[in-house]
This record gives sequence, structure tokens and C-alpha cells, in this order.
Amino acid sequence: MGRRPKLLIVVPSGLAPLWEPWLREGPFDTLVHERDAYRREGIDYVLSFRPPHGFLATLPNLKTVFSLGAGIDAFLADPALPKTVPLVRFVDPQLSTEMAQYVVMHILLQHRSQREFDTAQAEHRWAQRLLARKTSDTRIGILGLGEIGTMAAERLRDLGFAVAGWSRSAKTVAGVESFAGEEGFAPFLARSDYLVCLLPLTDETRGILNAKTFALLPKGAYVINVARGGHLAESELIAALDSGQLSGATLDVFATEPLPPEDPLWAHPKVTVTPHIAAISDPAVAARFVIEGVARAERGERDPYTVDWGRGY
Ligand code: NAP
Repeated sequence: MGRRPKLLIVVPSGLAPLWEPWLREGPFDTLVHERDAYRREGIDYVLSFRPPHGFLATLPNLKTVFSLGAGIDAFLADPALPKTVPLVRFVDPQLSTEMAQYVVMHILLQHRSQREFDTAQAEHRWAQRLLARKTSDTRIGILGLGEIGTMAAERLRDLGFAVAGWSRSAKTVAGVESFAGEEGFAPFLARSDYLVCLLPLTDETRGILNAKTFALLPKGAYVINVARGGHLAESELIAALDSGQLSGATLDVFATEPLPPEDPLWAHPKVTVTPHIAAISDPAVAARFVIEGVARAERGERDPYTVDWGRGY
């Protein structure tokens, strides 16, 4: 019988038991970094979210690294990341569904003026009125038409919104207008009453939600950032909200998490803050994804969700 491969869980201390029970049926032995004794040469696979910088480079026989999240920017931030080892990111329709729910909910809260009805209720005031803007005239722009962005675009399209997406390559998604590349950026922004960021964080997309971008949106546009805090220039967002260029923002992700108590975003009247909860990877589903990934790697096949180092996602 051949040697059983070894998978190492590298997550912040104490969190490994979330995944361990689900990995038991995998075709490998599971070990936990900082808890179990192991030889670094013996590790074949790693499952991780934010590995300590430099750590992965100390495992000489690593075959594949599995990310526990859809975004892999925390791996790319490691200057010693071994790029000869494939990095596979987590893709799960359930996660994409929950992300789409978050986006739909926050757009509907604004579109249906729900916050104002909450205030009216608190004042016992009957504030009946028509929708501020027809749904079919309400233009939504999704930055990033990937796994999650496409699902969000389709759900919003099904609700009757005028939806467009911006990506690196042009897309064909029924009922969703496609804009691509640098030349597509300004026309895409000019027609977006709501701008939703669902891009990966890369050298090209860092800081993309900035004053220049906000100025290209229609006056009074609403911004939702559900991708990464590094996409947003926070002080430029606050300036655009205060000038009225933007009517509001919903933010799930921040440059520093947890968001420090003194951060001005907490108390800004036009900002909704949530604590990076738009979607959280389900450990049972993530473990199944890893088990299938290891089986695929052992067969010598390339995983379809392997990160392309050149693109950075
Ligand atoms: P994905 O499938 O890799 O899609 C990325 C999309 O962005 C693609 O359409 C890609 O274009 C586009 N893109 C990338 N770089 C671009 C550039 N420079 N210019 C134009 N378009 C560009 O990623 P995903 O699975 O949808 O995930 C998106 C992000 O969501 C993740 O990276 C993560 O940061 C975030 N996320 C957040 C949470 C949360 O709880 N808040 C949870 C899960 C994920 P092409 O299609 O042309 O390649």
C-alpha cells in the first residue's frame, strides 16, 4: 500500500476543530499546525486561511495549498509564498448564494426606502408613497462578474433591475450588460446608480473605490463594498458622502478588521457597517471541497480553481 498523504491545517489557534471532524473521511492523515508534532518534509497538503508569512515556504514537499476563503489576497501578501506550489481557492455555490443575498438585501433596503419607513414607524407616522425610482430605471453595476458577481447580477436582474457588470474579459450573461477592461470602466460607472464591488484584491484593483471612481458615478449613487477593505479609499468615500456625490454606502469589509471603535465609519449617518459577515465559508462544505481537491491532486489532475499567479486571482 502507498503512503497516506498528510494534510496540515494552518489556521489561527483554537479554530482547527471547526474543520477537523469533516476531514476525517479524506484520503489523508490530518495534522494541526502548532498543536501536533510533525516533520515539515512529510507535509503534502495545507488547508489555511491566513498562514503566517514565510511558513508555507518551510514545507519542502508541499503539493497543493487550499484556501478556506474565496479571496486569496492574504496568501499573496506573503512575500515568501512558494509560487511553484498550486494554490486552490474555495468556490461554493452556497457561499455565492449568501453573498448575492447580502447584495440584494442592501440594495432593496435603499431602493424601497426601508430605513425611512423604520424612522416613520418610530414616530408613529404613516409615510405612504410611491417608489422613489422605478425598478427598471434603477441601474446596478457589479465590479467583478466572477463566481459571486455573476450570481448577484442574475438575482438582481430577476428582480427587474437594469444590471451591468465590469470584468477583465467580456461576458455573456443573459439580461446583464457586459463592460470590460480599462476602456469599459468609465461608461460602466456613468450608468451605475448602485456600484457593488465583488473584485478580488490584486495590484490592479487595490484602491479602485476612490475619489476618481466616485466622481464618474451619477450624482447620488450608492456604493456597496463586499469584496475587501483594500479596495476602498476610506477618507475619499467619506468626502464623497459628505459632498453629496454619493448618497450612501454599505461596507462589509475594512482595511483593518475588526474595524477600530474610533473609526469614523461607525457613526457616519450615510454608512451601514457589517462585520465581514456577507458570507462565511461552511466548514463541512469547505472540507468536502478539500477532500475532492486532494483526490484530484493525487490523480495528477489540475484543480479548476487554481490561482493564476499572473492575474493574481
Ligand atoms: P472570481 O470568480 O475570481 O471573480 C473575479 C471577477 O473579477 C472576474 O469577473 C474577473 O474578471 C474580475 N476582475 C479581476 N481583476 C480585474 C481587473 N483588474 N479588471 C477587471 N475585472 C477584474 O472571484 P469570486 O469568487 O467571485 O470572489 C470575488 C471576491 O469576493 C473574492 O476575491 C473575495 O475577496 C470576496 N469575498 C468576500 C466575502 C465576504 O464575506 N465579504 C466572501 C467571499 C468572497 P474575468 O472574469 O475577466 O477574469
